[in-house]
Amino acid sequence: MEKILIVGCKKAMDDVCIGCSRCMVGFNRREGEFKRYAAHDAELIGLLNCGDCPGATIVTRLAQVKLWNQPMQEKVTRIHIGPCIIDHCPYKETLINKIKAKAGVEVVEGAHPYKPENIFA
Ligand code: SF4
Repeated sequence: MEKILIVGCKKAMDDVCIGCSRCMVGFNRREGEFKRYAAHDAELIGLLNCGDCPGATIVTRLAQVKLWNQPMQEKVTRIHIGPCIIDHCPYKETLINKIKAKAGVEVVEGAHPYKPENIFA
């Protein structure tokens, strides 16, 4: 059973991508980068924001996720990086490298596939 943590941009999660519903829907439908779980048991166990620019607190925040979930014996087995970071974060390289260096689990770059296109077309 994969236990998935999605990491996203604090600014986007607070103000733009309301309710993180695109990642939730993408996971529930196993679309986008969640397609890989179509034939597997997988649960979403958290949506974590990066901690704000310039991403200095991400490692501590990952450690907090581990501690916060210990009483329920829940442990992250895979991390997905949201498109809010992949497509827009000016610090993404540092942020993603830190996550990859410290997480100890596979890190997948990508999540939901519902990026807006041709808004006024
Ligand atoms: S560091 Fe990147 S992901 Fe985090 S709030 Fe700033 S722009 Fe968003």
